[in-house]
Amino acid sequence: MRYIEPHGHMVSRTTDDYIDMVTAGCEAVCEPAFWAGFDRSSSDGFRDYYRQLTEYEPARAARYGLPHFCWLCINPKESEDVGLASEVLALIPEFLDRPNVLGIGEIGLNKNSRNELKVLEMHVDLAARTGQMILVHTPHLEDKLKGTRLILDLLAADSRIRPERVLIDHVEEHTVRVVLDRGHWAGMTLYPISKCTPARAVDILDMHGTERLWMNSACDWGESVPLAIPKTALEMRRRGWSAEAIDRVIYQNPLRFLSQNPRFRLPTVA
Ligand SMILES: [Zn+2]
Repeated sequence: MRYIEPHGHMVSRTTDDYIDMVTAGCEAVCEPAFWAGFDRSSSDGFRDYYRQLTEYEPARAARYGLPHFCWLCINPKESEDVGLASEVLALIPEFLDRPNVLGIGEIGLNKNSRNELKVLEMHVDLAARTGQMILVHTPHLEDKLKGTRLILDLLAADSRIRPERVLIDHVEEHTVRVVLDRGHWAGMTLYPISKCTPARAVDILDMHGTERLWMNSACDWGESVPLAIPKTALEMRRRGWSAEAIDRVIYQNPLRFLSQNPRFRLPTVA
C-alpha cells in the first residue's frame, strides 16, 4: 500500500509516528498551519512556528525518507484579534518562497464570526495576489453547513480564485456535494471521536464517487490517529474495493491536487 497524508499536524506528534507512517506506506506528508493548543501571545510566536514548519519539521521527516510539505496562515481559532492577524499575515510572504511551502492554509471559519470572516478575506486576498493554492478548514463547533456556504460564497466572489486550486477540508455528508458542485476539491477528515469515522468516509465515497475527494487523518495534539488513512483503506478492502480504486483515493487523488503546485515533487514519481 502507498498513500499520501495530505493533512497532518506533525509538530504535535512524536518521531515514532513518523516511523509508523512510513512503515505503513506513507510517501509524503503535508502540514497545514494550525492552532498550537494555546493562543500564541504575539506574531513572534508565529514566526517561530513558520520556521518550525519550513526548517525543523521537514528535516525530522527526512530522517525517515519522508518528504514534508506545509501550508501557512493564522488559523481561524486565532483570528478573533484582527490586529494580531494583520501582523501575522504581513509575515507570511517572507516564507512563501521556501521549498516545502504549498500555499495558504488551513484558513476558514471556526465559529462563523464577523472577525473570522474578515481574516479569511485577508487570507484569500493574499493567496490571490501571490498566486498561491488554498486549503480551507470548515467549522465543527458551529453550523458546518452555514460556515461552508459562507466560505464558498466568499471564494466565488473573488474572480482571481480558480476553484480547482482550492481544497475544502473536513467535509461531511451534508457538505460534500455543495463543495464539489462549486468545482473545488473536498477532504474528509478521519477522526475517532468527531468529524468522520472510516466507515462514514467510505459511505460518502460510495455515494459521491472518488472524483476530487481525498482523506486525511489531521493528526494533531488531540485524540487522533496518525494511521487513519491506511486503516480506512482496510475498511475499503473489507467492503470489496479493488486495490486500484483504493490507490486512486489515498494516493493518486492527493497527488493530482497537490501537483498543481510544481514544488510538490516526490522522489518516487518520475
Ligand atoms: Zn488541521
